Amino acid sequence: MRNFEFQNPTKLIFGKDTTASLAKEIDNDANVLMLYGGGSIKKNGVYEQVKEALAGHKVVEFGGIEANPEYATLMKALKVIKEEKIDFLLAVGGGSVIDGTKFLSSAALYEGDEPWDILTKHIRTFEGMPFGTVLTLPATGSEMNSGAVITRAETQEKLPMGGPGLFPKFSVLDPQVVRSIPSRQIQNGLADAFTHVLEQYLTYHVGAFLQDRFAEGILQTLIEVAPRIMKDTEDYEAASNFMWCCTMALNGLIQKGVPSDWGVHMIGHEFTAMFGIDHARTLAITLPSYYEYKFEAKKEKLAQYAERVWGVTEGDTEAKAKAGIKKTKDFFHDLGIETKLSNYTSDYEGTAETIAKRFAERGWLGLGERQDVKPDDVEKIVKMAY
Ligand code: NAP
Ligand code: FE
Repeated sequence: MRNFEFQNPTKLIFGKDTTASLAKEIDNDANVLMLYGGGSIKKNGVYEQVKEALAGHKVVEFGGIEANPEYATLMKALKVIKEEKIDFLLAVGGGSVIDGTKFLSSAALYEGDEPWDILTKHIRTFEGMPFGTVLTLPATGSEMNSGAVITRAETQEKLPMGGPGLFPKFSVLDPQVVRSIPSRQIQNGLADAFTHVLEQYLTYHVGAFLQDRFAEGILQTLIEVAPRIMKDTEDYEAASNFMWCCTMALNGLIQKGVPSDWGVHMIGHEFTAMFGIDHARTLAITLPSYYEYKFEAKKEKLAQYAERVWGVTEGDTEAKAKAGIKKTKDFFHDLGIETKLSNYTSDYEGTAETIAKRFAERGWLGLGERQDVKPDDVEKIVKMAY
């Protein structure tokens, strides 16, 4: 196992009817900006629950943060923060609203002229404006981590940011919110969380036994609850396990002491930036080709995954490793998620070259746990995913 430090300061408030408790987490004299998305919270009762909880607080609202939060929209929210002298942010939504809020937390205290530099110049955030979240969509883990991904449509960019100053102060997770989530987003949440675990688990052995078991436990639980939650979003037992898995998949714990990859995410982001494909679906497109391409480097761990998570017992290491990739692809298909770029756009010719060129221009010369996936390799992987 590798050396590590682990600190996750986010307080989680998990369970039925927990939204009311957010009032005690925010100072009474705070100037709160409540941020939300396209309006789902006004249809499922979450908006009223939050407003009721904050009845004693001064609250300004900013709605309209879109999926894959857009820089131009967030700059409007930043203006509100300055004009209204906001000092606490409350994100009410899924990964997009939470990520957008993280950007605002950073940008609100940023002293440079152009907040986009935080993304392009990889400026880490050590102190941000304090914020909390009310999660409405289990998927990203953003409610308990310090990363975010922000999109800029005019330049077709989707870039990551983060830093220790960007952990939420608290996150409220009431699994009852799952009831109103449309099936497409349930599928996305399952696939995103599943891929988060694989990106941190499917690398190479460093003798971190417990980390492997944590990762396998989350994967097995997601596999177990997936059919139940897809069939019935009112199934509280399935919903609560689904929600907890998504948080645990990306709150830093399973990443400690082990190498991690993230190549699938970095390539996937480009498909969203270029074609607007849902984040989770971009991962399902990328992952099988990525693992086939990196087969030699990953086969030991792929075989362990196939054996322990999917119960594959037949064949040698290579056969099991191949079965592991196939099982993952089948899992995405069973969720109703297609795994080829051509399933989403007919305009895919040239995508591989464009992405490879962008990575080279940005200096992203070595992705993956060994930093050996070069722009040329990315080009081949993307072509395999057509
Ligand atoms: P999302 O983009 O936040 O939301 C997707 C859709 O689901 C929206 O249309 C939203 O509607 C709707 N929705 C949310 N909660 C709902 C509910 N309870 N009932 C009905 N509809 C609901 O989806 P997401 O998958 O959570 O976030 C994706 C973003 O997170 C991407 O930009 C991705 O790159 C990023 N991401 C971040 C991390 C991280 O660690 N920070 C990790 C992975 C991915 P409304 O807009 O109307 O609310
Ligand atoms: Fe993700």
